[in-house]
Amino acid sequence: MSTGTETGYALLRDPRRNKGTAFSMSERRQFGLEGLLPPTPLSLELQLARLQNELAELDSDLQRYLLLSDLQVRNETLFYALLMSDPARFMPIVYTPTVGEACQKFDHIYRHPRGLYLPITARGRVRELLRNWPQTDVRFIVVTDGERILGLGDLGVDGMGIPIGKLALYTACSGVPPHYCLPITLDVGTNNQAHLEDPLYLGLRQNRVRGEAYAEFVDEFVQAVQELYPACCIQWEDFANLNAAPILARYRDKICTFNDDIQGTAAVALAGIYGALHLSKKPLTEQRFLFLGGGSAATGIASLISQAMTMEGLTADEARKRNALFDINGLMVTSRTDLSEFQKPFALDHAPVSTFVEAVKALRPTGIIGVSTVPKLFNQAVIEAMAEINDRPIIFPYSNPTSRSECTAEEAYRWSDGRAIFASGSPFPPVEYGGKTFVPGQGNNVYIFPAMGMAVLATQARRITDEMFIIAAKAIAEQVTEANLASGLIYPPQSKIFTASLYAATEIAKYVFDRNLARVERPKDIAAFIQSSAYRPVYPE
Ligand code: NAD
Repeated sequence: MSTGTETGYALLRDPRRNKGTAFSMSERRQFGLEGLLPPTPLSLELQLARLQNELAELDSDLQRYLLLSDLQVRNETLFYALLMSDPARFMPIVYTPTVGEACQKFDHIYRHPRGLYLPITARGRVRELLRNWPQTDVRFIVVTDGERILGLGDLGVDGMGIPIGKLALYTACSGVPPHYCLPITLDVGTNNQAHLEDPLYLGLRQNRVRGEAYAEFVDEFVQAVQELYPACCIQWEDFANLNAAPILARYRDKICTFNDDIQGTAAVALAGIYGALHLSKKPLTEQRFLFLGGGSAATGIASLISQAMTMEGLTADEARKRNALFDINGLMVTSRTDLSEFQKPFALDHAPVSTFVEAVKALRPTGIIGVSTVPKLFNQAVIEAMAEINDRPIIFPYSNPTSRSECTAEEAYRWSDGRAIFASGSPFPPVEYGGKTFVPGQGNNVYIFPAMGMAVLATQARRITDEMFIIAAKAIAEQVTEANLASGLIYPPQSKIFTASLYAATEIAKYVFDRNLARVERPKDIAAFIQSSAYRPVYPE
């Protein structure tokens, strides 16, 4: 553990204090580094330039990922200086999609420990294991059990790359200080047979524990975190559907916690809708959405939109009627007998409709949102029908990855004669149509979770409410400029993510203080308070 007083080699191996070749001559004398480094000091800027050259020489993003993770354990300031110099470029390397490949190969490319592994075999001793983490003031935990890693399924302990990568984005995109962050994997086994048979697999060699034993283990974990780090927020990440919703329901009113896959996802879709309204110039309460898909993403987004509509004056019932769901068995109507409890609130009092295009014609939505995991279902007939009903049809194919997208950006613009307001789950390049360049937006959760993280960290919020996500969504949409809108872009450009996140964090923090949910005193200037709480990658003097 770093004592903050190391000298010589020990200092060069402390990632938080290490400056590498940027140690000045006087620091080298002071800390016993003379002779341990090549004699000429470099500036941070030159170190960055050297890194950029090195990255350019590499052949694949996985190699770049490995270079960056080595850098992170060697020199944290330089790592974040690089990420923050161009977040749009480095996000796909430290997080999706490259992190997916790194997780798949985790056991075979394992290099150094990072984060905390809590195996279920340590039941009864979770607190003891947590104490082994060198930082005593932990404020932000991202935790997974590895069961639904991105779209890759059950990766067991190899999912650790996700909490690590996600926390790097919390820091890079909103300045959540890295020393407060802790990535954790709960190892409850895996049902991935290939992993269980791989001699290099590093997790427990057993099938997943389910039921009460699982719940008790999660409970022990939450309690231990509360005891050791009372101000800590727990963010649940990439749990399978069967555990994700119950875990959130169990803790959301007891501790400061959220699930990004459920709440962050819904909020980023809502941010896209608020952005779209700048273009369609109609209020949220006049919108009608039809979802293709009725799973967890669809119901999560539909619930948050409904709540946002009720905040603007509709009753809960009116709001839900404006969010219709269409799944593999057709439009969700009350006469259907196959609906789950979480789907029933959205069932319409309507005759059954079996094709999506018929549902579009019958319900006349202002927007369609694709979360079906099935490509090409927003076909020409669907988009033409939307374009006939609406001047500016909202078309959001959100299924990931790109190969599953319900339509491409080019199709949406072409079939709507350039009138579609488009955003997608996976990125699409700009589209030339009718002499105009359209820039498709990507509904990436990164617009929401770093802002939420920064706000709860700075305010030490007691709880995280759905209203906080609605505020985050609005705040993100407010930052879309006229120039962005002119090219069809309804999210702020990813290159502006840091500024956008701090603005959204400020808006969320205002709410936290207004609702007496904060555990710190209300500052006079909340924006300045958030700014000053944010980490900046500069070497300490
Ligand atoms: P899910 O498996 O829970 O739900 C899929 C739904 O699609 C089900 O209701 C199913 O009945 C329906 N469906 C399947 N085939 C269909 C068909 N032919 N016609 C109509 N409906 C059909 O999945 P999920 O967790 O809800 O995620 C759905 C998709 O949304 C995924 O591709 C995911 O990547 C994407 N997603 C994107 C974002 C984002 O970009 N921010 C966020 C969340 C989810």
